Amino acid sequence: MPSAVVTGSSRGLGRAIALRFARDGYDIAINYHTSEAAAREVADAARDHGVETTVVGADVSDPDEAADLVDRAVDTFGGVDHLVNNAGIDQHVYTENLSPEDFDRVTDVNVNSAFACTKAALSHLREAAERAGDDNAGPSITNISSILAYTGAAVECHYAASKGALLSLTKSHARDFAPEIRVNVVAPGHIETDMTSDRTEAEKEAELAEIPRGRYGQPEDIADAVAYLRDAGFVTGETLNVNGGELMR
Ligand code: NAP
Repeated sequence: MPSAVVTGSSRGLGRAIALRFARDGYDIAINYHTSEAAAREVADAARDHGVETTVVGADVSDPDEAADLVDRAVDTFGGVDHLVNNAGIDQHVYTENLSPEDFDRVTDVNVNSAFACTKAALSHLREAAERAGDDNAGPSITNISSILAYTGAAVECHYAASKGALLSLTKSHARDFAPEIRVNVVAPGHIETDMTSDRTEAEKEAELAEIPRGRYGQPEDIADAVAYLRDAGFVTGETLNVNGGELMR
């Protein structure tokens, strides 16, 4: 059975992406940093789809822990066919109050982790490409960026910068790893998760007024996009914007 590693899959988008892979018949490595119980619940739900799971605690901003995560997936499943670099943190601080340490922490978790996990998975994804031959979409990497990569953000410059970096990292890796491994990125708009649960009613109303679809996104909307990119054999180096029409490019 093919397999996937989804970083930060204890909650939110990562949880929905992991469950989508499970529903589609992939063994799945579920990664948490602090939410072990939630990750184990994701694994239980994934196994209801008849797939195997492994639950791995790892801070993916640490290259050694990122490598451990990939190794655990390989040991359990015999290989890795897809990697989704989803783990991320956000922080609302004006630039004048933002410390270099906080800037680095957000960069480490949001971008450097994608680099570390990708490096750790690369040889295994190349092996997956050999197994796949010419007949299907082959192995892939999908990174999770943000609409803020385009717009910037007044109180979270480090978050927006980290998400911008993921767009160019994606294109660079799509060139680096071609033709065997496709690399794409999803740029979500406003999705209802713990990360966005701090909005006031007034903020929500203002945000919704800017979204032509008239609703917030759900984690499953992003899982749909990731599943499309996983299966789209002629798509690489691409950014898929999933934002209800908030930003039309
Ligand atoms: P969330 O609900 O806060 O979940 C974040 C996930 O990342 C959790 O599973 C968390 O694990 C994990 N994580 C955080 N730091 C980690 C680390 N150092 N190592 C491993 N895992 C770590 O956030 P979300 O809304 O699902 O966001 C997921 C991704 O989508 C992020 O990259 C985010 O920037 C991006 N995104 C979200 C939105 C949105 O509107 N929600 C919009 C655009 C982009 P633990 O709970 O186990 O610590």
